[in-house]
Amino acid sequence: MGKKLIITIDGPAGAGKSTVSRILAKNMNYIYLDTGALYRALAYKALKLKISLEDVSALTNLCSTTDVVLKNIDGQMKVFVDGKNVEEKIRTEEVSMAASKISTFIVVREKLLNLQRETGAQGGIVAEGRDMGSVVFPHADYKFYLDAQLDERIKRRYKELLDKCVSVEYQSIQKDMLARDKQDKQREIAPLKAPDDAVTIDSDNLTVEGVVDKIISYISIK
Ligand code: C5P
Repeated sequence: MGKKLIITIDGPAGAGKSTVSRILAKNMNYIYLDTGALYRALAYKALKLKISLEDVSALTNLCSTTDVVLKNIDGQMKVFVDGKNVEEKIRTEEVSMAASKISTFIVVREKLLNLQRETGAQGGIVAEGRDMGSVVFPHADYKFYLDAQLDERIKRRYKELLDKCVSVEYQSIQKDMLARDKQDKQREIAPLKAPDDAVTIDSDNLTVEGVVDKIISYISIK
C-alpha cells in the first residue's frame, strides 16, 4: 500500500466539488470530508436559536456551547450537532446563506479548524471546501480548484434542490449564489481562492466522470 494522500478540492458553490470528491474518495477508498457541512451544521443551530448571524458575542457563545462531531456511518462521514445527526436539515438555501455569513467570523473558523485537521491527520482523505488547500491542509499532496461559469453553477444547484424535492425559485438561487460568491471571496479570513500550487479544472464542458478522470490522471502521473 502506498502513502495515504491528502487531496484537497476547493471552489465556489455549484462547481461540482461534492459529487466529484465523493466519487474520488470512493474510488480511492479514502474518507470524504465535506467541510461545508460543518459550517452548515453550526449555522443550522444558530438559525434554530434565532441568533443574530452578525453578533460576534452570540456566535462566540454558540461555538463554545455546541458540540460538532463527525461520525463515520457506513463509510460516510456525517455531521452531528449536540449528539444529533443533522445531515437532512442542513442542505437548504437558508442554511447555505447562514453558513456563508457565520463563516466570515474567526471564532467560527477556529472552532472547526482542528476537527478538519484531525480528520485528515492520517491522510487517506479527499477534503472539499473553500480553504482546504490554502489554510486547513497547506501541505496537501494534491490540490485542485474546481470552477465553472456562474450560469452553469446556478443550473446545477437548481437541479440538485429539485432532485431533493426542495421547492425553490431559479432567480432566488441566482441571487443567493451571487451573494455567497461575493461573501466567500471577499471575506478577510480564509477567503475562497485558488491556492498558488493548485491545479485549476474548469468543469463547464466536462461530465462528473470527466472531472474525476482528469483528477485521477493528474494524481497518477505526478
Ligand atoms: O460547500 P458548501 O456550499 O456546503 O458550504 C457552505 C458555506 O460554508 C460556504 O458558502 C462557505 O461560506 C462556508 N465554507 C467555508 N469554508 C469551507 C467550507 C465551507 O467558509 N471550507
